[in-house]
Amino acid sequence: MKLFPRLFLGHLLVILVALGALFLVVELSAPSFYRHHVEQMVALIGPEGRVLRPDLERGMRRTLNSALLAAVPFAVAVAAITASLTSRRIVRAVQLLSDGSQALAAGQYSRRLPETGRDELAGLAHNFNVMAGSLERVEQDRVALIGNVGHELRTPLAALRGYSEALTDGVMLPEQAAPAIRREVRAMERLASDLSLVSRIEAGRVDLHPTIFGARTLLAAALERFGDAYAERGVTLMTQNAPDDMQVRADFERASQALSNLLSNALRHTPPGGRVTLAVQEVGGQVGFSVEDTGSGIPAEHLERIFERFYRVDPARTRGEGSGVGLTIARGLVEQMGGTVRVTSGEGGSTFTFTLPRA
Ligand code: ADP
Repeated sequence: MKLFPRLFLGHLLVILVALGALFLVVELSAPSFYRHHVEQMVALIGPEGRVLRPDLERGMRRTLNSALLAAVPFAVAVAAITASLTSRRIVRAVQLLSDGSQALAAGQYSRRLPETGRDELAGLAHNFNVMAGSLERVEQDRVALIGNVGHELRTPLAALRGYSEALTDGVMLPEQAAPAIRREVRAMERLASDLSLVSRIEAGRVDLHPTIFGARTLLAAALERFGDAYAERGVTLMTQNAPDDMQVRADFERASQALSNLLSNALRHTPPGGRVTLAVQEVGGQVGFSVEDTGSGIPAEHLERIFERFYRVDPARTRGEGSGVGLTIARGLVEQMGGTVRVTSGEGGSTFTFTLPRA
């Protein structure tokens, strides 16, 4: 049986049972109550009063029955109207929820339910809308991710196609093309490994091997790794405030990777003659590592979004330079090690600071 007749008949049945019970109670208790009063009256009037007794009793029964019979249709009509309204509201909410779920299952993520009233049904519709909103964002994110990966692959692939054509046409010698081909292949390898790391970070499946090490050790490793690249571009890389005794508990390789991503960004965005300063200080009970550059800076309206996958301040200029997920990886790794990442930026450059737990 459908939900509406079930609810409607259920409501009506309850009312009918209640009416029956009322009928029984009145029929059983009213006559004896009435008789008691008639006896008292007859005693007051005297022997003549006895003649009136059957009349009074008949009158009482007639009045009682007609009052009850008049009340029943009225009560049934009111009960039927309220049962019908309540059942209709419940059935409509269930129907909307069912249609909405079917629409979501069919991929219509923009579908929303009307949130009328303030009862549990309105709460249900609100929760459905929140869920549909989350699914819509996930779907938009998925579509954007596919588009972005395609875009990122296009640049190295176009370059590889150009080199292969140049080789075929004899415009380039193999020894001339080989370093460029290796560079493009490395860019694609970096993109593939960065994407796989992003997916592991987002699924919370990064293998971490925390150890205790000095903050200075992390800076020294970074200086060694980036010294040549900075010198080649004519940007000064220096350290500041690196106290001996600051010990960190984190995965050294992953912390190094986060710092490297910040340092390679700082290098790319700082013009020759500029300076990048690495510093260590206590931040909120943790050890804070900061990378301050004298580069182009990041406009305030972009600061919120630069940690998103493939978000670029100036896509036309910087596409093809990094993999587009350097900051996503840095923040993901730092947060999985129990730290946070902050950025401040202005006309004079940017400062990225990440923290790691103090040992
Ligand atoms: P990318 O591979 O493009 O560098 P990231 O996730 O590392 O990707 O950075 C996202 C964007 O943030 C960059 O495209 C750039 O616009 C901006 N950005 C990051 N670091 C800096 C910096 N030190 N100075 C200026 N802009 C920066």
